[in-house]
Amino acid sequence: MKIGFVGLGKMGSAMAQNLLRAGHELSVYNRSRGKAEPLIQQGARVADSPADAARHSEAVFTMLPDDHAVEEVMFGHDGLLAGLDQGAAHVSSSTISINAARRFTEEHSQHGSRFVTAAVFGRPQAAEAKQLLVVTAGDQQTVERLGPAFDAIGRRTFVVGNEPWQANMFKLFGNFMIATVLETFGEAFAAIRSSGADHHQFLEIMGELFGSPVYKNYGKAIADENFSPAGFELKLGLKDVRLALEAAAEFNSPLPIGSLVRDHFLSALAHNQEKLDWSSIALVSARSAGLND
Ligand code: NAP
Repeated sequence: MKIGFVGLGKMGSAMAQNLLRAGHELSVYNRSRGKAEPLIQQGARVADSPADAARHSEAVFTMLPDDHAVEEVMFGHDGLLAGLDQGAAHVSSSTISINAARRFTEEHSQHGSRFVTAAVFGRPQAAEAKQLLVVTAGDQQTVERLGPAFDAIGRRTFVVGNEPWQANMFKLFGNFMIATVLETFGEAFAAIRSSGADHHQFLEIMGELFGSPVYKNYGKAIADENFSPAGFELKLGLKDVRLALEAAAEFNSPLPIGSLVRDHFLSALAHNQEKLDWSSIALVSARSAGLND
């Protein structure tokens, strides 16, 4: 398949590499060109704008931080929409708001193209190993046509609806769940460390109980206080919890733990943790318990 890819950050570069490995013909664009170099060496064509990456592609992926960045890439100078053929698809893998996904769906429909969400669960290492979970929604025929591209980046694809925003909703509440795991690890480890007991041993037991890579990998990072380099920056984690709160509010569905986690992310920002991994939210509980002083 002829595919464009815009946004070669921690996640995008690994996903683009797997699309290339699967034999897709790839045009890549990144705002700062240096990040495209390794992919060019592996056979990707470098595009000089999002429009250029989209031109003559059946699908163009975006993997950008937030609503604002996707907007800039779509509508800005030489933006994606200017280059995308009628009938081609914009596949958005960024974690964005459900309202932005609705707006982008409408814009594409007026343009004669399709907007599809293919949100992903998994950190950069999982992306490199083709182990992402892909959560997609959009026009059924388009989603089916994109199947080989999803197979190239992940281990399993879930189709969760015909409206792209539905996949964004699943992603936001999935990240809300992960954020609560980070928070509860932080609280439990703080109490156990304060008591003088071995929190690594506690982690081993929790690993047996919960048996998930989320518990295992984040639990170890928090137990070791290993938050840098970040796989997922804390400021992006805060963005996701805010978006989950916003989505829940639309449906009059309270998210009390979400509010608490948002406040702890804010406290982390106040302590200059913006560039640390989002699991460093655990430092907030450690500080509250008088540890790490
Ligand atoms: P990242 O490493 O910060 O990469 C972001 C990329 O977007 C960079 O290549 C950056 O270009 C580009 N960019 C930023 N603002 C832009 C703009 N206004 N116009 C054009 N390009 C822009 O982020 P990431 O960790 O890959 O995350 C990307 C998305 O995936 C986010 O929505 C995140 O929530 C989601 N996600 C992340 C993870 C994870 O574990 N990291 C997992 C699942 C989903 P420059 O190089 O020029 O700065």
